Amino acid sequence: VPPSPHPILPPLAAASPHCGSCPSTRPGFLNVHLIPHTHDDVGWLKTVDQYYYGAHNEVQHAGVRYILDSVVAQLLAEPRRRFVYAEVAFLERWWKEQKEGMRRAVRTLVEEGRLELVGGGWCMGDEGAAHYSPSVEQLSLGRRFLREALGPCGIPRVAWQIDPFGHSRQMAAIFAQMGYDGLFLGRVDYQDKKARESRQEMEFIWRAGGASDPSPDSDIFTGILPNRYNPPLGFCWDQLCSDPPVVDEDSPENNVEAVVSSFLRIAAQRFRTNHIVMTMGSDFHYENAELWFSNMDKLISHVNAKVGTATPTVGSPISVPAVVTLFEGSPLHPQCSIPIPVLTLQ
Ligand SMILES: [Zn+2]
Repeated sequence: VPPSPHPILPPLAAASPHCGSCPSTRPGFLNVHLIPHTHDDVGWLKTVDQYYYGAHNEVQHAGVRYILDSVVAQLLAEPRRRFVYAEVAFLERWWKEQKEGMRRAVRTLVEEGRLELVGGGWCMGDEGAAHYSPSVEQLSLGRRFLREALGPCGIPRVAWQIDPFGHSRQMAAIFAQMGYDGLFLGRVDYQDKKARESRQEMEFIWRAGGASDPSPDSDIFTGILPNRYNPPLGFCWDQLCSDPPVVDEDSPENNVEAVVSSFLRIAAQRFRTNHIVMTMGSDFHYENAELWFSNMDKLISHVNAKVGTATPTVGSPISVPAVVTLFEGSPLHPQCSIPIPVLTLQ
């Protein structure tokens, strides 16, 4: 790892302003930040072209161009909705196909913080086998496109390594030195995760410089996502899932009570602070984004209505019973929501 920031990488903090506004959180409540997202591998069971165009859906149903079409349409339809996106290889292809009017609309979504770029590399890079040099270069390539196409608000502030199979201290140090504000991980060793959950240490400062470079330049706020990068059990509303939708109409299928109480049970677990992230999406989700967004709209409104009049409990947020405020997206800026983390030296 180079001891100082790579010369071709300008520090992010200086380069990008704060874009969009923070959600108004409620002190004393457990603030659950739903993160609508799709995880689009840049090549896995299909090639990058097959994934983009939706070819060979008999191998795996996935068409990223339709995901981006559908997500952007749903964001434009309802100002409260938000989304995070990571894989620039696909976004760059889609961008090239768009007319100027659509590009303007997307830039506005980004400036308002309603479409937030995370990670920002050409792909979500491997940390086990890659040398640091191509890791830095692919991040640089993706970020250069984002800066040119979307402006300063398109530069991600949060590293989003939710599917690499293992993580390296050196990569965390690189993210810190590049100026990222935080790093989110999906896959960690199951024994480590279990231990961290029991100690409520799923969030920490990773002192990634190690013994050879103990300077704070390589410290980075790191969060381990609660459900790898999936939604909690029973709350998957994509066309690729089969969980029941939220039905709040006068119907024998009405399930609002059950959905709300089940969600509150799930939310009040495992974290020490009163701000938690909850990913809502998975592999190649949101090809029909209406399913996800309309059900999350209902979940948010029913949960917030149920707890709206409750008295917040002071003390350890983990023990707060069923007092939750839900937001959609914009969770990732430490200046918005990330509380004082557990300090862990590694
Ligand atoms: Zn993946």
